Amino acid sequence: MSNRQMQTDVILIGAGIMSATLGSLLKELVPDWKITVFEKLSKAGEESSNEWNNAGTGHAALCELNYTSEKKDGSIDISKAIKINEQFQVSMQFWAHLVNSKLIRNPQDFIMPLPHMSMVQGEKNVAFLKKRFEAMSQNPLFQGMEFSDDPEKLKEWIPLVMEGRTSNEPIAATKIDTGTDVNFGALTRMLFDHLKAQNVEVNYEHSVEDIKRASDGSWELKVKNLKNGIVQRHKAKFVFIGGGGGSLHLLQKSGIPEGKRIGGFPVSGIFMVCKNPEIVAKHHAKVYGKAKVGAPPMSVPHLDTRYIDGKKSLLFGPFAGFSPKFLKTGSMFDLITSVKPNNVLTMLAAGAKEMALTKYLIQQVMLSKEQRMAELREFIPNAKSEDWDLVVAGQRVQVIKDTEAGGKGTLQFGTEVITSADGSIAALLGASPGASTAVSVMLEVIKKCFPQHMNEWEAKIKEMIPSYGVSLMDNPELLHEIHSYTAKALGLDKKVAVAR
Ligand SMILES: Cc1cc2nc3c(=O)[nH]c(=O)nc-3n(C[C@H](O)[C@H](O)[C@H](O)COP(=O)(O)OP(=O)(O)OC[C@H]3O[C@@H](n4cnc5c(N)ncnc54)[C@H](O)[C@@H]3O)c2cc1C
Repeated sequence: MSNRQMQTDVILIGAGIMSATLGSLLKELVPDWKITVFEKLSKAGEESSNEWNNAGTGHAALCELNYTSEKKDGSIDISKAIKINEQFQVSMQFWAHLVNSKLIRNPQDFIMPLPHMSMVQGEKNVAFLKKRFEAMSQNPLFQGMEFSDDPEKLKEWIPLVMEGRTSNEPIAATKIDTGTDVNFGALTRMLFDHLKAQNVEVNYEHSVEDIKRASDGSWELKVKNLKNGIVQRHKAKFVFIGGGGGSLHLLQKSGIPEGKRIGGFPVSGIFMVCKNPEIVAKHHAKVYGKAKVGAPPMSVPHLDTRYIDGKKSLLFGPFAGFSPKFLKTGSMFDLITSVKPNNVLTMLAAGAKEMALTKYLIQQVMLSKEQRMAELREFIPNAKSEDWDLVVAGQRVQVIKDTEAGGKGTLQFGTEVITSADGSIAALLGASPGASTAVSVMLEVIKKCFPQHMNEWEAKIKEMIPSYGVSLMDNPELLHEIHSYTAKALGLDKKVAVAR
């Protein structure tokens, strides 16, 4: 072990979209702070943030049916959709700021305009969709949303989905043209290139093995260089644990009381991909359906046009699955080693409660390709097996904790920011809505961990994100301005030629 000890202001663990975003925000707010990054893989954006490991939906709640629910009185609750949409507007503004400041370039390499649609079948579901449309389309955030239950109109919107459809069941869809496909892998890599250009020290193939509080209140990390096996100690006043699925273990190592009684449950994902140009050319949207009964919210089936490396393809899924790994490149012991004396009761309670989910995930793992094709044919009746391949996506580690509403061992489907009482360490757990909301989630980290600087930083934050602290829903004029400004900066207002 080397005895050299390195000192820095900020350490970011992991080179995914979350660390990339936090580093980029901090570099704008305090350019002279020294930031060091440790990533165990050889490149940035290789785990969940990689373009093939997630669905690339710019989650703005324009199409995801699980963000709206039907209340007991039959009305539709759109509060979650409003929150997610506002969060996505924050991301769009920060990305637009980075492009306009020439800190990143070629936005079409990471974001493309794409209609977002919801599609349902059956009388009850169609009635639900219509009610949902009526509740949402009156809100300025969802302006421009259209509804149709006319098969002729649907043939125009989604020819591939309507081709060969023989069922007489009622079918309906909503469509909004302001949706996006986001290549979070490309964005992560661009942000890390930008950080390196701003003198951030990015160390690949360096694994953080331990985190301990030092006697002066700062944090001391044990970091292993995976190329030569040398272990070094690095100290920082502030540490962000952005290890994706790897964050829970690191949080546990830090020993902070806020990290106790929290567990993780990994859910893996499989997509089907089609690269046949003839088929790809017939579809141009993200079409979200309804989750099957018993399926977790993150396995809502959807059929998406994707733009990756200048090429269009179609993605269908995700099929959920079970693997005890917390990262795609993780270990089969991840789940078991995350069980500690302080969270064992929470984990056991969740295990007893979530038997149905575990059974569902195991059934999903066992599906044959033909069984998966049968699910795809609910979207594309004429889909042929030879046009579709399976791709293994990233791992999502869902947070398990004790909550007032759900009791002991309740499975959470959102993201959770855990910070120490003194704000010197923060970790991000959970995976949904994920990368799309990275900017507002990292602003939450900044607010919680650096309250003493917020007065000084607020003007710069507002310059980068004009809607910061403001409800866009209640300020339609500002919303309109921001829509035009971000669309122009990110090239969403023009059609970009894409090779097929
Ligand atoms: C199947 C699937 C579909 C999804 N779809 C969408 C979507 O459509 N839209 C959306 O917005 N979000 C989506 N998400 C969520 C989104 O991908 C994640 O929220 C986001 O990528 C998480 O970013 P991150 O930086 O936290 O983690 P990651 O991208 O996983 O990065 C964490 C990094 O930390 C590194 N690391 C871990 N432990 C250590 C250690 N000890 N030392 C050093 N480095 C370490 C890892 O190697 C990794 O590179 C999806 C996720 C999945 C799995």
